[in-house]
Amino acid sequence: MARRMVTGNSDLIRQWNRSLVLDVIRRQGPVSRAEVRRVTGLNFTTVTNAVADLIAEDLVCEVGLGTSNGGRKPVLLTLNPTARYVLGCELQSAKLVVGLFDLSGQMVGQVRKPKSPGTPPAEAVARIAEGVREILSAAGVSRDKVEGMGVAAPGPLDSEAGVLLTPPNMRGWQNVPLRRLLEEATGLSVQVEKDGNAAAAGEIWFGAGQAVNNLILIIVDDGIGAGIVMGGKLYRGAGGAGEIGHGTLDLDGPRCSCGNHGCLEALASGFALGRKAAEAIRRGVASSLAAQAEAEIGTEEILQAAEAGDKLALDLLDECGRMLGIAVANTVNMYNPELIVLAGRLAQRSPIVLDRALQLGRARAFSVLSDQVRIVRSALGDDFLVKGAASLILARLFRGPVDLFPS
Ligand SMILES: [Zn+2]
Repeated sequence: MARRMVTGNSDLIRQWNRSLVLDVIRRQGPVSRAEVRRVTGLNFTTVTNAVADLIAEDLVCEVGLGTSNGGRKPVLLTLNPTARYVLGCELQSAKLVVGLFDLSGQMVGQVRKPKSPGTPPAEAVARIAEGVREILSAAGVSRDKVEGMGVAAPGPLDSEAGVLLTPPNMRGWQNVPLRRLLEEATGLSVQVEKDGNAAAAGEIWFGAGQAVNNLILIIVDDGIGAGIVMGGKLYRGAGGAGEIGHGTLDLDGPRCSCGNHGCLEALASGFALGRKAAEAIRRGVASSLAAQAEAEIGTEEILQAAEAGDKLALDLLDECGRMLGIAVANTVNMYNPELIVLAGRLAQRSPIVLDRALQLGRARAFSVLSDQVRIVRSALGDDFLVKGAASLILARLFRGPVDLFPS
């Protein structure tokens, strides 16, 4: 795997080499020092020193002897997966989950806390801090073994400053310095990332994108968002790239939560489908959803009605899949990715949404580009955002202070 050279600051180079060595031991262990030198291209002294540091920090252990090519049998090195832990936090308008992971990426605990679109920031921060205390206590992990917490939150946000800017579906969350509030409340190092970016990072680390350099992940749930990985790195543009949900599909369409009209999110998200279901029921369309209060019809209710064969719910999901297919085709033409991953409840649980999106996404894109892309559903299940959030910290530990992802 080719790596970008880092020059200049010697601390940075030392950290970089340490991450490089650690990542090879993680991926290839049990592995000898000689093999680490061969894979990384680093010299004898650098590898010896980095391994000594990692053993002193308990991140790496020696686990017996390998086979010899004539000389002494080499000592083999392996990652100690419980030497440190990372936390992932999914913060959405109506969902709050914290997960604890060991260094192999295994989830060792999870807590869910109440969160509604109206929950104020201070209350949500207190609940996350409480969740962190509970999860560490249940797993018997002390706080000083936690490397940090990644947070997947709604965009647009400033990931460098850790500030949520204007999340459309969360009242009272304008310009919230979430990273600072969470660092103060938990005493941990915190990284805040837009949910789509965190999910894309999760696919690179845990999921379908492990050997992929150009990937776009689209979340289709209560809202619609995306994360873009280009050339092996998260692509943020000037800060807020990936707002695919707010691309206009219908010039005179319904008003969107962002203030615009006819956005993909205003036509095909779970919120939009709930609104459309209520309108159809008012017009007299028969549906099992008519038994529920209008305001309660959302993503979950529509998916469940469709699973039970309700025609209105199935028609709405069909339309959602077709709209999503157009967005997928536009994405293929614009970015020419190797892989598009569809995540979120609507894409992961509705076969109609997935089928329509796959079919139209291919049919409406340039055929030469369409032939180059794989389009898959996320295999990370309901936890894709918690895992994505945790992967931000794992990537920082194993991939060094400069690059998020391998190039
Ligand atoms: Zn919009």
